[in-house]
Amino acid sequence: MRYVIIGNGPAGVVAAETLRKCDQHGSIVLIGDEPEPPYSRMAIPYLLMGEIQEAGTHLRKDRNHFRNLNIELVVARADKLDTSKNVVSLDNGKSLTYDRLLIASGSKPISPPIAGINLPGIYPCWTLEDSRHIMKLAKKGARVLQMGAGFIGCIILEALAARGVELSIVEMGNRMVPRMMTEGAGGLIKKWCEKKGVKVFTSTKVEAIEKSGNSANPLNVKLSNGQSLPAGLVISATGVRPNIEFLKGSGIVTDAGIKIDGTMQTNVPGVYAAGDVAQAEEFYTGAQLVNAIQPNAVDQARVAALNMAGENSRSQGTMAINVLDTPGLISSSFGQWMGVKGGEHTELVDEDNFRYMHLEFKDDVLVGATSLGLTQHVGVIRGLIQGKISLGEWKERLLKDPTRIMEAYLARTQGSNFKLAA
Ligand SMILES: Cc1cc2nc3c(=O)[nH]c(=O)nc-3n(C[C@H](O)[C@H](O)[C@H](O)COP(=O)(O)OP(=O)(O)OC[C@H]3O[C@@H](n4cnc5c(N)ncnc54)[C@H](O)[C@@H]3O)c2cc1C
Repeated sequence: MRYVIIGNGPAGVVAAETLRKCDQHGSIVLIGDEPEPPYSRMAIPYLLMGEIQEAGTHLRKDRNHFRNLNIELVVARADKLDTSKNVVSLDNGKSLTYDRLLIASGSKPISPPIAGINLPGIYPCWTLEDSRHIMKLAKKGARVLQMGAGFIGCIILEALAARGVELSIVEMGNRMVPRMMTEGAGGLIKKWCEKKGVKVFTSTKVEAIEKSGNSANPLNVKLSNGQSLPAGLVISATGVRPNIEFLKGSGIVTDAGIKIDGTMQTNVPGVYAAGDVAQAEEFYTGAQLVNAIQPNAVDQARVAALNMAGENSRSQGTMAINVLDTPGLISSSFGQWMGVKGGEHTELVDEDNFRYMHLEFKDDVLVGATSLGLTQHVGVIRGLIQGKISLGEWKERLLKDPTRIMEAYLARTQGSNFKLAA
């Protein structure tokens, strides 16, 4: 059996290792187009904070790890796929044939259509190469402007703040993490960041970036509110799109990502997809969703690899789980945090202490949640949502006081063994 994997990020690596466990003799080729050992993007913030060196981002520390597993690493870009002949063409002129193919090519940052976006000193924060540029410019006291306060933007924000830069964040949405957390939570995160000395502009666009002629801050960033901000570094964190261009003409169905079924198989038999590039069924609604977080990438990779090796494995469906640390304030959102049609919700807001909880229900089942500053509850929230646990009389109690979620979980999962205190 000849297995080919396109993409050597967390999904590709875990798939290759799982395949090797299941099939001692098959040939496994892992293709990656970055000139680095396989690494984890989610370790980049720790590199920026100086907590690890580059080697700390590498997914496997032993240099011989892949050789020992007889997994062949190929540094090249897959630029065409012919599913009728089972051939992947590479940009180095070579091609590879496969019996089973996994596409784990992840996503890449969008370059927003802004005048001056290609000037020197403007980078995304996506690859190890980007982080090298950022570390050169993001010195203590440097003026840094970041476009975008989504999930990745907020993660980078923490790392930049830790480097002691003068940071401004510009976000088009009316709050921080607008596509990931409720208005209440996004507003409180903004307030918290401002308390920590970060300037946050929401409902604001970057309209143009120009050269300033000033050597300390060579860029001038024009905002839609009329202000102009000098900057030595601009970071673009305005969203990503899946790496699917090379699939043109392959017959593989794509939408926001590659469409896959519960076994991670695409519409073409023998071709699978996993990770940030894949659009899988959401476990509650069944809607197709790209869930671009590393645990999801790794789970999907494992399921895909088991099926590629001839075993039977099915995902229960993907679920949004987002946890953020925006300098020192932990927030999280889960599942249908934005609510579902015909659902009900409850919200607790303690602005002075930066505590917040928002629960979304459908009938007597918790379907989504957003919380801030209440980390002790995140495990049970996930358990209740993922387990689709019927809350019975506990739903009304939670509507009155969402902080009783731990009691609700214990009562509904341990039944009569759990005695409610008076
Ligand atoms: C700064 C940062 C912080 C993050 N923090 C978190 C976090 O805290 N928690 C979390 O869960 N997630 C986090 N993420 C997201 C997480 O990194 C991704 O969900 C994860 O990397 C997805 O893994 P993947 O294997 O699907 O894709 P990737 O890691 O993107 O790997 C895909 C690989 O395939 C290569 N490739 C693409 N196209 C081709 C081609 N045609 N031919 C060959 N190779 C190709 C790419 O260059 C890349 O190396 C973070 C991301 C960033 C950028």
